[in-house]
Amino acid sequence: MLAPVDRLRPLNDAPLRREGAWVLYWMVASRRAGWSFALDHALARARELGRPLLVLEALRLDHPHASARLHRFVLQGMADNARAFAGSPVGYLPFVEETPGQGRGLLRALADRACLVVTDDWPAYFLPRMQAAAAAALPVRLEAVDGVGLLPWRSVDRAFGRAVDFRRHLQRQLAPHLRVLPSPAPLSGLDLPPCPPLPDALRARWPAASDRRLSGQVTDLPVDQGVGPVAQEGGAGAARARWRRFRDEGLSRYDEERSHPDADASSGLSPWLHFGHLSVHELWADIAGREGWSPERLGPVTASKAGWWGLSASSEAFLDELVTWRELALNGAALLPDHDRYAGTPAWAQQTLAQHRADPRPHRYDLETLDRAQTHDPVWNAAQRQLRESGGMHNYLRMLWGKKVLEWVDDPATAFDILLHLNDRYALDGRDPNSTAGVGWVFGRYDRPWGPVRPIFGTVRYMSSENTVRKLRMGRYLARWG
Ligand SMILES: Cc1cc2nc3c(=O)[nH]c(=O)nc-3n(C[C@H](O)[C@H](O)[C@H](O)COP(=O)(O)OP(=O)(O)OC[C@H]3O[C@@H](n4cnc5c(N)ncnc54)[C@H](O)[C@@H]3O)c2cc1C
Repeated sequence: MLAPVDRLRPLNDAPLRREGAWVLYWMVASRRAGWSFALDHALARARELGRPLLVLEALRLDHPHASARLHRFVLQGMADNARAFAGSPVGYLPFVEETPGQGRGLLRALADRACLVVTDDWPAYFLPRMQAAAAAALPVRLEAVDGVGLLPWRSVDRAFGRAVDFRRHLQRQLAPHLRVLPSPAPLSGLDLPPCPPLPDALRARWPAASDRRLSGQVTDLPVDQGVGPVAQEGGAGAARARWRRFRDEGLSRYDEERSHPDADASSGLSPWLHFGHLSVHELWADIAGREGWSPERLGPVTASKAGWWGLSASSEAFLDELVTWRELALNGAALLPDHDRYAGTPAWAQQTLAQHRADPRPHRYDLETLDRAQTHDPVWNAAQRQLRESGGMHNYLRMLWGKKVLEWVDDPATAFDILLHLNDRYALDGRDPNSTAGVGWVFGRYDRPWGPVRPIFGTVRYMSSENTVRKLRMGRYLARWG
């Protein structure tokens, strides 16, 4: 199936070449072999042209925050993809740089023989720049397909400042998109010519990742080895296992208990969603199918968190995070100028923080002390340790973690950069639209002024570790990470 028109965007004016050897799918964001509009689109183009499909999934050494942790997670995803494509006529080239710059020229070499190139549309990190450069340089048509959210993110033409307004927009626009889903298993029964072996010279210069790499061996790669691998495994298989466990054991408690660090009632799916190992469409289809959902169940547009989807309270609470908040972040990454800088936070927040910039700060810390979790605050240190050691942090604590850095660092713009750096360096789900939205939230983005006016914060929402400990069940959490 070709991609829906509101998810498809040509990135250049170069021609489509019918005589090419293959259709090339340059997989950069939806790193999976099913539930993917981009893969469906590439397959449909290959069928139209009667040509094989070749999939390139590459991993560079020089991307910002490249580390043993991130590499291992992506490689495990590639191993899953290699298994999925192995039994099909689709060619799959998992390429991992062994030395910096080794991958240079690979896309061009494959595109030189291609009818056209299909890729994923993704609004954040270095991907838009990389794809714009590729679009200008490639000799063939480059088409980008958006499969990130339930609502095509390019169908929205303004940046929303509040979740309630975006939720209202979703409730007005989402209905037709809820029934247009990518194929769960596009490789089964596929009628395509088999992909020919790649030319020897090409394979010699850009060999496919070895089995050793695909098993997640990364200790000898020149990436940040100070950020080591974690137990959590990358790939569609691990993602699905995690989803099923959460669906069967956590989802019914999500609405009530997700804020308690001891409750284990949130999904933990953000790393797989970030790397595209898991699709929001698959989650939506599973939830809707299990609850016997049909479009007639959609409620009136109220912009309220509950009551629109026509699902159980827990599923609606989960979808409000997975769809409203995640896609609001996507909207910000696509359309909010400076979404990844302090300059992109709301004017009212910058103004009140500037007024309180010179307030006395009883505790002040630099990046290194924060990085090492060596502050006076045991709750903050526990959260930072969890981030460093496990590659994740509990959602509620992530908010507190951010607010404290705003309090302890003299200049809000520096505090913003420190938070984004720590988040993106250590978190498996970092470098995402949610990363800049989450850090921005600490500084008032998607929020409103709160009284009373407080030192340092002015009217930006304040949070305290003492209140957090009083309000939440977190004894076991602190015993583990404290
Ligand atoms: C300072 C700060 C930094 C953050 N950095 C990131 C980040 O780098 N990557 C990231 O994915 N999220 C980030 N978040 C948002 C949120 O904390 C995480 O998405 C959530 O904790 C992930 O855990 P989960 O998968 O168990 O979420 P669940 O509660 O199970 O939610 C399901 C999914 O919904 C989405 N979601 C949930 N909460 C939010 C939210 N507040 N905003 C946007 N989407 C949300 C995520 O994709 C998540 O996986 C940040 C929040 C803050 C305050």
